[in-house]
Amino acid sequence: MKLLFMTFYAFFFVFCPGCSDREPGQSVTAKPIDTPKNTGVPMENQKVELTDWQWKQKLSPEQYNILRKKGTERPYTGEYYLKPEQDGTYVCAGCGNVIFKTASQFNSHCGWPSFSEAQPNSVTESTDTSYGMVRTEITCSRCGGHLGHVFEDGPGPTGLRYCINSAAMEFNEEQ
Ligand SMILES: [Zn+2]
Repeated sequence: MKLLFMTFYAFFFVFCPGCSDREPGQSVTAKPIDTPKNTGVPMENQKVELTDWQWKQKLSPEQYNILRKKGTERPYTGEYYLKPEQDGTYVCAGCGNVIFKTASQFNSHCGWPSFSEAQPNSVTESTDTSYGMVRTEITCSRCGGHLGHVFEDGPGPTGLRYCINSAAMEFNEEQ
């Protein structure tokens, strides 16, 4: 019986390539190469992937250190740690992805810009265990740039506090 199963598995693995959805005779190389033009994904949702050298050319040294090297600006030094008087939108300094709005910004007195919520699908969460702490890191969903962390001690209805580096963002005043 055992031998029968082994034979079955051997058969399955050997002939598995035949299970793929390729038409008989169609070669792998015949498939068109996916380019940004034919993915059907809107331009603003397309991933931004640059080399390390390209990021260095594009960003200021501080932006590069935060976005690409997961650095943190010193508290109370960033441009946006206090909520601006004008309403507006924050975009990722690396790729222009719209990530936060002033409507969700609050003054948390921690020294960094703080928000109750991010724009839908604009940021990605992952576990960060650096410096002996377990935190939830926030990165830009479009370019992968490090933005900051999110904590569950926010005062708003979401209970969240997105703690973000000013230098990782650019602010656009609402017209
Ligand atoms: Zn980005």
